Amino acid sequence: MTAELISVGTELLMGNIVNSNAQFLAEQCAALGFDMYYQVTVGDNYGRMKAVIETALGRSELVILTGGLGPTEDDLTKEACAEAMGVKLAEDAHTREHLKRFFDNHILKEIPENNWKMASVPEGALVLDNGNGMAPGLILEREGKTAILLPGPPGELRPMFLQQVMPWLQKRQRQALVSRMVKICGVGESQVEDMLLDLIHSQTNPTIATYAKTAQVDLRLTARGNDKAAAEALIAPLLREIESRFGRAVFATEEHVTLEMAVVELLKERGLTMSTAESCTGGMVAAKLVNVSGASDVFMEGMVTYSNEAKMRLLGVKEETLKTYGAVSRETALEMALGGAERSGTDVCVAITGLAGPGGGTDRKPVGLVFMACSLKGKTEVREYHFKGNREKIREQSMMKALDLVRLWVMAEG
Ligand code: ATP
Repeated sequence: MTAELISVGTELLMGNIVNSNAQFLAEQCAALGFDMYYQVTVGDNYGRMKAVIETALGRSELVILTGGLGPTEDDLTKEACAEAMGVKLAEDAHTREHLKRFFDNHILKEIPENNWKMASVPEGALVLDNGNGMAPGLILEREGKTAILLPGPPGELRPMFLQQVMPWLQKRQRQALVSRMVKICGVGESQVEDMLLDLIHSQTNPTIATYAKTAQVDLRLTARGNDKAAAEALIAPLLREIESRFGRAVFATEEHVTLEMAVVELLKERGLTMSTAESCTGGMVAAKLVNVSGASDVFMEGMVTYSNEAKMRLLGVKEETLKTYGAVSRETALEMALGGAERSGTDVCVAITGLAGPGGGTDRKPVGLVFMACSLKGKTEVREYHFKGNREKIREQSMMKALDLVRLWVMAEG
C-alpha cells in the first residue's frame, strides 16, 4: 500500500514547531510495511490544502493528514478533505455527546459556539474518539482511497494512532506483516551498513531498515507473508545471519529491550551486583540503570566523583596517580573502577572519566577523550574513546559505551 502524509499548519511552514508528527507517522507506516513516496506540509489555507489533498489522493492509496481539526476559523482540514473527496459534512450525535462530556469534565460554564464545529463529520466517516482532547480523528474511504485525519497535538495523535488507527490498518492488510528489531551497540552506522551491503542490496522480502541513534544502531527486519508463520519463517534466517555477522555487538532482538535492560538482565542471569563510579557522566549511567524495573536486584550504588578530592575520598584513587597521569587517564579510570568495586562491595564497577568540553581540552588530551574501566571480581578492562560532538553528546555517548563495556566484559568472563 502506498501512503502519503500531509502535515497541516502554517506554524510548521514558518519553522515555529518541529514536525514530530511526520517523524512518528513515517516510522509507523514503515513498520506497517507501507511504501511512502511523498510527505507534504501545507499552511492553513483552504485552497492550497484542497489542492494537495487532491494530488495526494491521485497518487497514493492512503493519505494521512494531521492538524487543523480544532474549533477555530483556520482549522479547515476536515472541510477541505471532505470537499476533495466529494462528501458532505453532517453533525454526528455521538461526537456531539463526546464533546459535551469533555466540556462537562472541564467544568466549562459556557461552551464557545465554534466548538460545535468539531461535531460535524464527513458523511460515512469512521469517527475516532479523542481520549486526550476534543477534536475527533476521522477515517474516510472513497473510491478505493482512504484519508485518515488526526489531531495535531502529539499527545492526542500518538495514542489515537496506536490504539485506534494501527489496529484498523492491520486488519485491512491483505498479508501478515511481521517485524523484528536487531539492536547493535559498538559498531558505527556506516560500518553496520557496510557489513550488510549485500543483504540490503538484495532485500525485497524481508526488508532491512537502519535507524542510527546515539552509540546504537537499530535494524528493523520486516517480512510479509500469507500468514504470520510464513512471515516469521522468512525473517528467521535473516535474523540468524545478522546475529552471526555482528556477534556480541547485538544486545537485543526485541523492540522493547534497551541497552540498560540488557545489562540488568545479564547481571541477574550471572548473579552479579554492580556499582558505578562516574565523573564526566555525573550519574547518567546510574540513572539509566535505575530506569529498569527490578534494577535493585543488581545495582547497588552509584558514586558521582567529579572532583579529584572525591575520587580520592570515595574511591581511593591515589593522589600520586592523579598528579602523574591526571584525572582523565587510563590509570585514574582503573583505580576508580577497582576502588568503586572494593568500597561498594559489588562484583562489578564501571568507571568513567573524560573531557566533555567545550573548554579544558589540550593537544594531548582533547575534548571528547574519555577513559572507561570496568572491574569484574578484581580483573579490569580499560578503554579509551574519542567522542565527537557537544558536551551533551559526549556525555550521552560515554553513558552508552559504559553500559556496553559492562555487558561485553561480563559476557567475556563467561
Ligand atoms: P486542536 O484541537 O488543539 O486545535 P488541531 O488538530 O487543530 O488541534 P493544530 O491546531 O494544527 O491541531 O495544532 C495544534 C498544536 O499541535 C500545535 O500548536 C502544535 O503544538 C501541535 N502540532 C500540530 N502539528 C504538529 C506536527 N506536525 N508536529 C508536532 N506538533 C504538531
